[in-house]
This record gives sequence, C-alpha cells and structure tokens, in this order.
Amino acid sequence: MTVIGGPSLPQERRLITSIPGPVSQAIQARKVAAVAQGVGTMLPVYVVAAGGGVLVDADGNSLIDFGSGIAVSTVGNSATGVVSAVTDQVQAFTHTCFMITPYDGYVAVAETLNRITPGDHDKRSVLFNSGAEAVENAVKIARAFTRKQAVVTFDHAYHGRTNLTMAMTAKNMPYKSGFGPLAPEVYRAPLSYPFRDGGLDGVTAARRAIDVIETQVGAANLAALVIEPIQGEGGFIVPADGFLPTLVEWCRANNVVFVADEVQTGFARTGAMFACEHEGVVPDLIVTAKGIAGGLPLSAVTGRAEIMDAPHVGGLGGTYGGNPIACAAALAVVETIEREGLVDRARAIEETMLKRLTALQAEDNRIGDIRGRGAMMAVELVVPGTTDPDADLTKRIAAAAHAQGLVVLTCGTHGNVLRFLPPLSIPDNLLHEGLDVLSQTFRETR
Ligand SMILES: *Cc1c(COP(=O)(O)O)cnc(C)c1O
Repeated sequence: MTVIGGPSLPQERRLITSIPGPVSQAIQARKVAAVAQGVGTMLPVYVVAAGGGVLVDADGNSLIDFGSGIAVSTVGNSATGVVSAVTDQVQAFTHTCFMITPYDGYVAVAETLNRITPGDHDKRSVLFNSGAEAVENAVKIARAFTRKQAVVTFDHAYHGRTNLTMAMTAKNMPYKSGFGPLAPEVYRAPLSYPFRDGGLDGVTAARRAIDVIETQVGAANLAALVIEPIQGEGGFIVPADGFLPTLVEWCRANNVVFVADEVQTGFARTGAMFACEHEGVVPDLIVTAKGIAGGLPLSAVTGRAEIMDAPHVGGLGGTYGGNPIACAAALAVVETIEREGLVDRARAIEETMLKRLTALQAEDNRIGDIRGRGAMMAVELVVPGTTDPDADLTKRIAAAAHAQGLVVLTCGTHGNVLRFLPPLSIPDNLLHEGLDVLSQTFRETR
C-alpha cells in the first residue's frame, strides 16, 4: 500500500477494521518481542501516513487526530513548507556539528526565537534535541548566572525523564519510581489549581507558594523557579489570574531566574505564540521544544542575554543540538504559523471546543471541570457531585474513543483528565466529527 501523507491525505474518519487492525496487531507482536516494555504504546495502531487532521494506519484506517503526537505536529504532519525545507536541507548536508563547523540555519533559528518570544530585551538562544535536555540546560544557565543551586518546581509539574528533570517532575509513577537516587536541590511548591483549591485567587495562591519557598528553601539559595504556564502532563491546569505575575515579581526582587517551561504550550498551541503572553508575563528564560519543528527533534532555551551568556565557552552544547535539518524545519514552522494565522486558528478551535464541551458537561455530571486555552483543552472526570478523580472512567472513555477512530490522550496526576490537542491544520468538519464521537462515547460509556 502506498499512501502519501501530509495535507493531501483525504480528510476523513474511515474505519476498515477493528482498532487496532490485524496488520497493526502483527507489528505490535513484534514490538513486544523487540522493544523494551518500559516504552509503552497508548494506542497501537501503526501509522503509515498523517496530515491535516488524520492519522492513517497500516490497515488503511483513518483516525481523527486529537493528540498531535503530544502537541508536536501543531502546524500539521508533513506540512508543505516543512517538507520542502527539510528536503532541501537533507540534499544539501545533514550534519556538521554546530560546535565544529557551524551553519546559518542554527543562527537563524536563534534569531527567530529571540524575535518571537515574550519581551523586547536583548536575548540569546541555545539549541538542543529534547525538552528535557533544554530544561536541564536552563537550570545549568540559571546556576551559572546566580551562583546558587536550588531549583523550585510545582505540584503536578512535568519537566521530563532525564535524571534532573525526573526529580523536577512531580508524579512518582511512572516517571520516578525505582529510578533513584534523584538529583538533589530540587524543591516543590504548591500550585494554583482553581478546580481543586476552592478557587483561591492567583495572588493568594502565589503568596502561599512564596511562603513555602522562603521558609523551606530560602531565596538566598534559589537559582531558578521553573514552571509550566499551563501544566501539560499534570492535567492542563490553568493557574488563576495573577499567580504567574506574582511569582515573576518575587523572582525579580530576589535574584531568582524565572524559567517558563513552554515545551507543551509554545508555538501557537494556546492561542498565543507562547502561553506566558496571556498574562503579560515575560520570563527570564523560556524553554521550548515539541511544537518547534513539526516533529523533528529540536529544543531551545531563550532568554536575557546577561543570563544566557553566564556559562563559559564550551559549557553548553551537544553533538546534535540544533541539527541543520531540525533547524530548517523550525524556520518553516514559524513561517507557517505566521503566514497561515495559526494563533487565530488556535483561538477558533478553543471557541468550538469550549462550546461543545460545555454542552456535553450540561448533560453529563461526570465532567467536573473544562479548562485549557486554544487548541489545548481538557476535561477532568470525577465521581458526580464530588471532586473525587475517576481515572477508571477516563481510561474507558479514551479506549472507547480510540475504538471509534478518535485519538485522544489522558493526563493528570490522578489520571482522570482527557486532553485534546488537535493539530491546527485540522479542518472544521473533522474537529466537529471528533467532538461528535466524543459526545457519543460519553453517552455510551457508563
Ligand atoms: C514533554 C515535556 C517535556 C519533556 O520534553 P521531551 O522532549 O519529551 O524531553 C518537558 N516539559 C514539558 C512541559 C513537556 O510537556
């Protein structure tokens, strides 16, 4: 079977076999025999093509994509501009190592990030491969600049799976359990979580966090405060207004580097180029990855020139960091977002989703909360009349949606959040059809 992916794929939900079909099941059997079980697969349909708003599997099924490979293919899989930029770069050269014999693409990505990230101060950027690697480097940079060591992260945080970032991540299973010892000098502060903290206002929630930080860590020891402006894996938690600005203000007053982990929220996903913009927050350092390069592995730390230039020459880098193919993709991604008005597209998707999810909640009291911004929306499922998390229901709804050809993801510290991350290239009719499938799934799953 030859299937050409990208935007030219038929934009339809098409179920030819049960999900997963026989061809996918045969590959999954090989996966079990060949791949370490530690790498789970949520929905073992083996993809052969993707684009627009669909994923096509090896059995010929076409599934509606509400996952974007975890907020990565934000401009769409195999988006035209990305494919042609990558193709040209592959034909020119694939690698030289920027630390050895550099190339323009890396510099152009740094210039672009310096331009599009919040704040008009003098900035510098450095490129890496993964989100976790960039978070680690943001901590290195903050430590070099402040000459302090401690790092504060928050309840429900997710920052990655490497040694330092798993210590920064909140959830024990599956991310940390059995993988210690964890990195030292990582401390945790309470978050603003409107659905679960009685609607505490943002400023008060920030003061509560600051009190924990001052009494348990001490500003004199604290290099960086690292926070996702909207938490991703932790449950798409949008902090109350005023929470982030109050933390930033405290950081500025105490020589603490404020690091926004925008790995999941960046690149138009939330209806702004970066989620910090919704509250006018200007981070000292901003960490990006996921949506940055249309699926090619790339990540970055961008920030104030004086902080970024603190580490000595040779103190930052990596063999593949800012690989030329990934850089070509990133430049095409930003060009696509700007040319196609994808920030506005994310806002339009939010409006549609919010309307449909609100209607669904009106007829289903198991939906405790609807939240998110842009094309990053979620519902938190609870035992009706309580705020008790219902992870089992969440799992069953996700499985039922998958069986009907809708790819949805779960998240949340208690595993009771369904999250929706459609690519911004999804056509409206497929967005609605996906929401129809979701509504029907809720009605049929008891
Ligand atoms: C996914 C994610 C990371 C880790 O990125 P990887 O590329 O998987 O290492 C870090 N922070 C946030 C907020 C993420 O969503």
